[in-house]
Amino acid sequence: VGVLLDPIKRFDNFIRLWQEGYTGFTRAMELLEEEPDIADNPDARPLGDVKGAIAFRDVRFRYEADVPLVLDGISLDIRPGEFVALVGPSGVGKSTLCALIPRFYDVDGGSVSIDGHDVRSVTLASLRRNVGMVQQDVYLFSGTVWENLLYGRPGASDDEVIAAARAANAHDFITALPQGYDTDIGQRGVKLSGGQKQRLTIARAFLKNPPVLIFDEATSALDNDSERAVQQALLGLARGRTTIVIAHRLSTVRHADRILVLTREGMVEQGTHDALMAAGGVYAGLHSTQGRI
Ligand code: ADP
Ligand code: MG
Repeated sequence: VGVLLDPIKRFDNFIRLWQEGYTGFTRAMELLEEEPDIADNPDARPLGDVKGAIAFRDVRFRYEADVPLVLDGISLDIRPGEFVALVGPSGVGKSTLCALIPRFYDVDGGSVSIDGHDVRSVTLASLRRNVGMVQQDVYLFSGTVWENLLYGRPGASDDEVIAAARAANAHDFITALPQGYDTDIGQRGVKLSGGQKQRLTIARAFLKNPPVLIFDEATSALDNDSERAVQQALLGLARGRTTIVIAHRLSTVRHADRILVLTREGMVEQGTHDALMAAGGVYAGLHSTQGRI
């Protein structure tokens, strides 16, 4: 049961079942609806389109009772339209912190709110319409490039899909694939590079067009061309929306309005790249000569 409770693992199941066809698909929908802890409160109201102000108030969170808190009293205000880079060692809770915004988990103390609305007070569907997630390839499924893009907003027109692919710097590599947009990217299909996969998920986010975007940057190295293409696509996508990037690259954090440094001790530093480098603290120490953090 524990495995099914994990949203990411559950999503993997969802995709696998999807691939098994219609029967699997129906079962997958049931799985997604199996949310014993996370559900609409009886008095939940739909959240309209938000400006994208996000507030964490003394947030405490642990995955299971009797294990140490992953997040112990995090408070943070993110302004509408702000571009924030979240950095820190592996395992300190960066992904967990972000997962609280679309309410994949509920806090054990404190609160998370969007535009002043506690995420527990609004419907899940309306909350998640406002929050987009971009991860390298977690959400790509077996099928064509086109099907994968359309998943961002089923019902989008052909022109909208292609415009999104262009905005994500993906159109050119897609049209160079053997069958273009109809190329299968499943296990038996063509193999995409990490940067290409990330640009497909960025294109999908352009289609969804959410006011709040969470971007989990690839930890593995991208080749230089791909990294530049992803970087440009991300900056385009971030424009006009609140963006939180779990950042691993100097080229990303340099563009951030604010860098937040999370360690086991909590949110220990925040500021611009130059300010944090000058301070000579944890952030400055995280940098290697590779430009990765
Ligand atoms: P980061 O993104 O900073 O690398 P995470 O948020 O992924 O860190 O993880 C923070 C801590 O929570 C780690 O100790 C990790 O092992 C644990 N953790 C992450 N996801 C789960 C989960 N689904 N169930 C139990 N523990 C988890
Ligand atoms: Mg992470």
